[in-house]
Amino acid sequence: MFRFSTIKDYHKALQNGQTTCVEAVRFYINKIQADQHLNAWLEVYADEALAAATKLDAERKSDTVLSPLYGVVVGLKDVICYKDHRVSASSRMLEGFVSVYHATATKKLLDAGAIIIGRQNCDEFAMGSSNEHSAFGPVKNALDEARVPGGSSGGSAVAVQADHCMISLGSDTGGSVRQPADFCGIIGLKPGYGRISRYGLIAYASSFDQIGIFGKNIEDVACTLQVIAGADEFDSTVSQLPVPDYTAALENRDDHPKRIAYFKEALDHPGLDPAIKAATEGFIKKLTAHGYIIEAVDFELLEYIVPTYYVLTTAEASSNLSRYDGVRFGHRSTQSTDDLTDFYKLSRSEGFGKEVKRRIMLGTFVLSAGYYDAYFTKAQQVRRKLQLLTESVFASYDAIILPTVPAPAYRIGELQNDQLAMFLGDIYTVFANLVGIPAISIPLFQHPNGMPFGLQIMTSQDDEVSLLRLSKQFLELSE
Ligand code: GLN
Repeated sequence: MFRFSTIKDYHKALQNGQTTCVEAVRFYINKIQADQHLNAWLEVYADEALAAATKLDAERKSDTVLSPLYGVVVGLKDVICYKDHRVSASSRMLEGFVSVYHATATKKLLDAGAIIIGRQNCDEFAMGSSNEHSAFGPVKNALDEARVPGGSSGGSAVAVQADHCMISLGSDTGGSVRQPADFCGIIGLKPGYGRISRYGLIAYASSFDQIGIFGKNIEDVACTLQVIAGADEFDSTVSQLPVPDYTAALENRDDHPKRIAYFKEALDHPGLDPAIKAATEGFIKKLTAHGYIIEAVDFELLEYIVPTYYVLTTAEASSNLSRYDGVRFGHRSTQSTDDLTDFYKLSRSEGFGKEVKRRIMLGTFVLSAGYYDAYFTKAQQVRRKLQLLTESVFASYDAIILPTVPAPAYRIGELQNDQLAMFLGDIYTVFANLVGIPAISIPLFQHPNGMPFGLQIMTSQDDEVSLLRLSKQFLELSE
């Protein structure tokens, strides 16, 4: 039977003739089929994936130098464009829409030899933390099907968790890769803002959005980042810096980063689950015993970060989503009306789900003339303060560690009527998006209730190298 551990081992097995790309694709298609009830996939490209695998197998000789993602089976969150394939942001608004171009990340995956096996369910327009806001039904956590997988990239996380593919790409605007990775017990990386081109990523809040990577081991995540990162003429916000060799960086054992900060207020927060607090503190002790210098730093702005995030992202969303009016893009109402405004209203009311509407209205409100300064300008000022604070922390430390989420995966439906509680669950993840730094969740712990949870690591702008190296060291320490 096909077994996957790492891309490196898979490539060895391909070259030794122990497996084939077709065998890999068949394995994943069968697994996806057996797990259909998890609702992780909106569409599976079974025939196409098999055809791509057959072609790779036919061309390969024993001495072929394999491209970095050769035959690697990848799934895409339903917000990342794949030319000539549907992309809907899990919304009725874009149901049936076919992308006319590739996202840059998709193109880079394909050029590196990856096989894209399907598109994955998520919260509508990436707004949510539980995957209960998809127009196509909730996704179930494979470890406990009564529980949510997290969101918004819930389908992408479950796909890796349940061995439906080797790697998934998601998007992270306020934690949507790290939080589901935490709930599902896998790795979720959000690179720094601008490390990966956003071209072809359906926008939620453009100054926060970043494509992220799910995997089961850090080497594969590093290898995927290597492929999809880098300058892109289609995205002016993408970093022009050269992409370091992440795989080589992981092998480098000398001189490892060791000065680490954590936010005192975050670990003392009353909303933090006691078992998560205890595990994080226990790990801090372990790290200290292994020669790391770990210190608490003050973070007085903690209470402001969730409101700041929701003011700014809803403002950006209200602007980004204005294009879905039934004329330029999106669902067009068939109810008859002679009035253009009524036509927009009908189309948008029918096309968008409840959570998206709530955010558009909130965003429109914070941008309205009477409240602009009180909310939007104020939130921008807080964002600037957070940036200054971050710079001062990284002047003395190589990394910041925090829990990823204050509580483990909850039951489906449990928080549906308590949107505020759901928003507060983002308290530890939105910081990295507000200041644009790289962050990762690595699966280190198990809650007394049996669910996994992770540790979050953040490093300074553009320093994914230290982030990946620390992740590897911490994962090894926990073995
Ligand atoms: N849970 C956050 C929200 O609902 C994060 C979403 C995301 O990162 N796309 O906004």
